[in-house]
Amino acid sequence: MQINRSILCTNTCNMQPAGRTAKDIRYIVVHYVGALGDAKANCQYYASSSVGASAHYYVGFAGDIWQSVSDQNIAWHCGTYGTYYHPDCRNANSIGVEMCVRKKNASTLYASDTDWYFEKETIEAAAGLIRELMEQYGIETDHILRHYDVTHKICPAPFVHNPKAWEDFKTLLKTEDRSAKVNYVAAVESPDGILMLRTGPGTSYPSVGSAKTGTVVNVRREYPNGWRYCRYYDGGGKLWEGYMGGAYLKPCPDYPHMIVKSPDGILNMRKYPHPTGEFIIGLRNGYNVGVLQDAQNGWKLLLCGDSFGYADGAYLTEVGGYQSWTGKITGGNLRIRTEPVNGDIRYVLADGTLLEITGEIMGSDGYIWYQVKKDGNAIGCCRSDFVRKI
Ligand SMILES: [Zn+2]
Repeated sequence: MQINRSILCTNTCNMQPAGRTAKDIRYIVVHYVGALGDAKANCQYYASSSVGASAHYYVGFAGDIWQSVSDQNIAWHCGTYGTYYHPDCRNANSIGVEMCVRKKNASTLYASDTDWYFEKETIEAAAGLIRELMEQYGIETDHILRHYDVTHKICPAPFVHNPKAWEDFKTLLKTEDRSAKVNYVAAVESPDGILMLRTGPGTSYPSVGSAKTGTVVNVRREYPNGWRYCRYYDGGGKLWEGYMGGAYLKPCPDYPHMIVKSPDGILNMRKYPHPTGEFIIGLRNGYNVGVLQDAQNGWKLLLCGDSFGYADGAYLTEVGGYQSWTGKITGGNLRIRTEPVNGDIRYVLADGTLLEITGEIMGSDGYIWYQVKKDGNAIGCCRSDFVRKI
């Protein structure tokens, strides 16, 4: 996106020099200029006159973008001597974006007039600019505000008179999620011993925690830029979720599997390796669980379908402990997938086909999935509700 910075305002009567960084910039406030001038003319005005007001960006009628105040400095666009209606957003922690505006009847220029409107080019360019700023500073959509939301000033008039237009504008800010859903296990392997956990997929997003090298991580989503959405436990039993750089996550697919075998038929999975840990889910006898790591007192960190947590290893038995049995596909053709729920479809087997059931696993869809063999070969897994025991 091209941003013209040739008329930057250095006039400290219109802005406050500050050394703001990403952590200081938490909001973007959208305005309309409230007059009929174009973006360049606005920039020239604020660079040459002491008016005690300013904004960081002006978006013109043709979609041209002019920067007036550098992001690191504080512009005066949403302050008031009156009442603030937003608890947190102020000039000091926001970026102001002014949109140039048209009016059907230009004989009056009152904010209360309802015939103000934006050119399509202005709307699209403003959305593009704001998307870039969101990415750069790690700002989420709920921190994109109208000036109205901060002080109740009728600004930007087209988005205050028509709240639906504001909602439509905000849908333009949602960046397309091109991540892929995955579910595998990796270990942190970082040259400096720790890997930061961030609020978004990139180093521009604030860090909220860090994991030591060796931490076992359940990877949930993969992003095209190499980032991963992950979850892991720290030693204190807190479950952390967020984004990590995939370059420092080493996939470890070769963990052992065991079978749940509990005297009362259910093994409780918890968030901490102790009977007082917060309950996650009951694992039924016969479930096939991935054993990722040993924890204290014989407990183990497990992955079972979508469920990730600790259980007492005393109630797990070797995979051979599952008494395999013969089932018959009943009620229609049945898809055999590489893994439960979202795995690739490997075969479609006809109603009446006989299968050997060699294990069970809880899918993220809430169904039990069977691990199956056909003619002695492991072929994948299938949903359990289309298989009858014979
Ligand atoms: Zn405003």
